[in-house]
Order: sequence, then C-alpha cells, then structure tokens
Amino acid sequence: MPIPAFSAGLPALTAMDQQELATLCRQAGIKPVHAATLQAAVFRHAVNDLQSLPGLPHGFANWLTAHTCRPQAICVNLQQAADGTRKMLLRMPGGGEVESVLIPAEGRITQCISTQVGCAMGCGFCLTASMGLVRHLHASEMVAQLMQARRILGEYPRNVVLMGMGEPLHNYAQVARFVRLLTDPAGIALSPRRVTLSTSGLAPAIHRMTEDALPCNLAVSLNASNDAVRNQLMPVNRKYPLPALLQAVRTFAAQSRRRRVLIEYVLIDGVNDAPQHARELAALLHALPCTVNLLPLNSHKGTPYRQSPPERVQAFWRILSKAGFVTVVRAARGDDISAACGQLHHQQRYQRRTTAA
Ligand code: SF4
Repeated sequence: MPIPAFSAGLPALTAMDQQELATLCRQAGIKPVHAATLQAAVFRHAVNDLQSLPGLPHGFANWLTAHTCRPQAICVNLQQAADGTRKMLLRMPGGGEVESVLIPAEGRITQCISTQVGCAMGCGFCLTASMGLVRHLHASEMVAQLMQARRILGEYPRNVVLMGMGEPLHNYAQVARFVRLLTDPAGIALSPRRVTLSTSGLAPAIHRMTEDALPCNLAVSLNASNDAVRNQLMPVNRKYPLPALLQAVRTFAAQSRRRRVLIEYVLIDGVNDAPQHARELAALLHALPCTVNLLPLNSHKGTPYRQSPPERVQAFWRILSKAGFVTVVRAARGDDISAACGQLHHQQRYQRRTTAA
C-alpha cells in the first residue's frame, strides 16, 4: 500500500502503521527494524522532538524532518461546561475548523472526534448540516485531534467516539485507517470495544465495515421508527430506507460478535416521541442485540425542532425497557456551552462576522 501523502506530497508520520514506517526506514536507507521504535515514539509516547529519541540511527531524525510531516491542530476556542465537558474548536492543518469534545463520565474521558469539515448528510436537527460538506479530513488530522486531547489531559482519552462533525462512513478510507491506528496494540492501543463509529445510515458502507472487520463498535443514529418520519429528519433515508439499513446493521451484529451495536435515538417533541413510535421501534429492532440510547435534542436556533418533555422521554424509555431492550436515557452534556454539534463553529463564525462588521 502506498504511504499516504498529506500535504506538499509529504507523507504524514501520524497516519502510518508499522509496515508503512518500515517502508519509510528502507527509503531512508536504515534497517526496517527501527519502525517499531518510531511507531512507539510517534503514537504511544507522542514524542515532540524526534532528535531527542534514543535508539534511532544517526541522521534519521533529520531525514524524517525533511521527508515527512506531523500535522498538528491548533485550538482556537476552548469552552468548559459546569459538568466538566470541554469543547474545542480546532483549526485543521489542511484547512477549516472542526469541533472535538471531551466528555467525563464514570472516571473516564470520552473524546468525540470529527471526520469531515462540515457534512453532506443534511440531517434536519443538526447545525453542522447547514455548512454542507467542505472537505474530508485526512487520518492524520483525526490523530491531531487526539493529540490535542492528550496535551490537555496528559494522556490519551480512554474512549473515542466518531460522532463529531461529519459522516464517518462518507470518508471511509481515512476513517478506517484512523480506527486501525487507534487500536493497533503497538501504537495507541485502545481496545476496539472503546472505539465507536456513529453513522447516519450509509448501508453499503456498514456492509464494508463488516467485511473489513473494522475494529470498533457501530452506533446508528436512527431517530425514527418508520420511513416517513426518518425521510423527514434525515435525507439519507431516501437513499437507504430502514429495511436496507437494518439489514446492514443485523449483518454487522451477526458477524462482529465482539463489537457492540448502539441505536441512537434523538427524541424530538411531537415528531418521533409518541408511545406508538416506541412500540414501532421495538418491533423494528426485534431480536437485534443492541443498546438503545435515548438522547435529548440539543435545541439551537438553526432548527425548528425542540427537545421532548421529560414525561414523554420516560414513557418512551418504559415501553422499550418492557420490550426487553437495554435502554439508557443519556443526559444532555455541556448544556451551558455550545453543546450541539456545529454550534461552537457556528458561534465562532458569527463572532468573526460581527467583529469584522
Ligand atoms: S447529524 Fe451527523 S450525519 Fe447528520 S448532518 Fe449532522 S454531522 Fe452530518
């Protein structure tokens, strides 16, 4: 496989697996055995200055500086909520800004990572959708988000969810590379059970994940119990309606037994939160081994939709629980900061416009 270039034709060290690092060593005229040292330095220890690294042949650090790059993100806005949630707006080395969120829960930090600048999927309740797709992120730019979290936390986050800006499966090759780098035991070494990829429902790409045995859990942002409501909320459903989507999810669940399936359901007042929707959802998910996460909508000015009242959330939860599903009502996180996906980016753009006016 060719070593992935990042910019100006230079390959990104932070997007290479051990085999590719070994190829790089050969190109530099040194023994490929040094790839393991390099991989541990770049990923496990996130060493800034390769010159300071013991064990590398003389001159190799200089060669790496001249022939490779390590793209870095710049944090242009950091907000912290009362519940400890931190939201970063990061300027990407390849251009544009994305959000990444650090969420504390049960003594662990989960990082939510973006996979694209903007998004093409057009979900009606999402602020990022209003940007459209600007560009796909390179795997090294996803690693750059992780490195930024490491700088803040002093260690890597324990869980990673690909649920930030963008549809991960629309940028499959780079996302798959990132997931493999995250879970490589010789590198960052996160357990595949601690990595979750969330999709709006690109059914063919879910099949591809299954065939490739991508080492991560699958979360599906379902948000509707029938095609009529889902067509209204999520345009992707017109291309891949619920039968095709659920078939892909069931195949993943059957063939990836050690991976979890999560069904994400954002409850929207008067749209998808009636008891009949809960019963319909239970029938739709029948016999699928999964956890259902009920999420409050992060209301924002860019959407006509509103959060479901707590009594409807409780009623919805009761019906699914009685039907035998492990169902969790997720609390809204970072309520006092710009918590909705795309909100911080939007706010920053607005501030820039008003400052410039
Ligand atoms: S919810 Fe996710 S997939 Fe849908 S538009 Fe927003 S970022 Fe894209």
